[in-house]
Amino acid sequence: MTSPYDLSREDFATHLDGVPNYRINQILEGLWQQDRRFSEMTSLPLALRTQLEEEFPLALTMTSEVATDAGETMKWLFTLADGATIETVLMAYQDRVTVCVSTQAGCAMNCSFCATGQAGFTRHLTAGEVLEQVAYAARTAAPRRLSNVVFMGMGEPLANYDVTTTVVKRLHAERGMSARHLTVSTVGIAPAIERLAGEGLPLTLAVSLHVANDAQRDKLVPINRRYNLDRLAVACHEWVGTTNRRLSFEWALIAGLNDTPEAAQELLDYARPLQAHINLIPLNPTPGYPVIGSSMSKVRNFADMIEAGGLTVTTRATRGRSIAAACGQLAEVTRGKRARLPVSSQ
Ligand code: SAH
Repeated sequence: MTSPYDLSREDFATHLDGVPNYRINQILEGLWQQDRRFSEMTSLPLALRTQLEEEFPLALTMTSEVATDAGETMKWLFTLADGATIETVLMAYQDRVTVCVSTQAGCAMNCSFCATGQAGFTRHLTAGEVLEQVAYAARTAAPRRLSNVVFMGMGEPLANYDVTTTVVKRLHAERGMSARHLTVSTVGIAPAIERLAGEGLPLTLAVSLHVANDAQRDKLVPINRRYNLDRLAVACHEWVGTTNRRLSFEWALIAGLNDTPEAAQELLDYARPLQAHINLIPLNPTPGYPVIGSSMSKVRNFADMIEAGGLTVTTRATRGRSIAAACGQLAEVTRGKRARLPVSSQ
């Protein structure tokens, strides 16, 4: 269950005893700057290319690809060496190209409206398995440069803490990506947020709040029963105070539940002391949560209420809905709840 992207310079040097340093540099440059497979690293002698291919096979096999939004959103299903499956989404915009990566196969957080949560947990990914998703996306995006990585695919990044921090460090070191371009989204594991605050890592943190009263959040986001809103606020204050970075709250708008003036007021009361940015997500339908998302006019009204209350707000563009690649829809297809995958771009 390792990927070539799990290996450090030292790992390569040890495995390839006797191979000169400049060759190791070429290998690392090929993997990280040129997004090449070993077979494509033509500056290396053929024998070395073959040896690398045999000893360090890729961890991800792409088993399904679907595209939508005129080809600007692509979703891949990858099968891992042990048969576990994960999903990755690539989104091209005018000003940026973003990949949404999975950090776990499945998820143990069990948020009621999320398809991955409904499917349960399989296992943690390795850092290389996450990094390989980035490399795959970068290859596909070329000649455009992959600019952003969001940890918003399957899984809870802070439940796979060491892997998430390793991935951030390596993306920074090897691909030169910085905080504005790396966003980790968490369900709100308070002690992990506090630990992360102390690491000085170049990342933007987004917290999936969705509702700002404990009674409702206990149901929607069950980890709230362990780390309630007060506990989460302590961690968020620590994040903002230590890192001096703006925090985002994600808020998936669910009709009648959290799109009301009362819900907006609760959010304002909670988020104002933190000066958090609010990211509204129109709820995407998932089979296990037969509740509808707010209408677009409700979404706009809600955004207006938040702005009037003095916070900045953006509404996330809905990408990939028709191919079950939108927020929270991942894992839907693999569970066979949809009749079939749409086969072509529309
Ligand atoms: N475990 C991380 C990453 C999850 S996915 C987290 O909870 O933040 C990223 C975002 O999509 C989260 O805010 C998540 O709550 C949201 N999401 C999940 N299901 C959704 C759905 N059906 N519609 C809209 N957003 C959803």
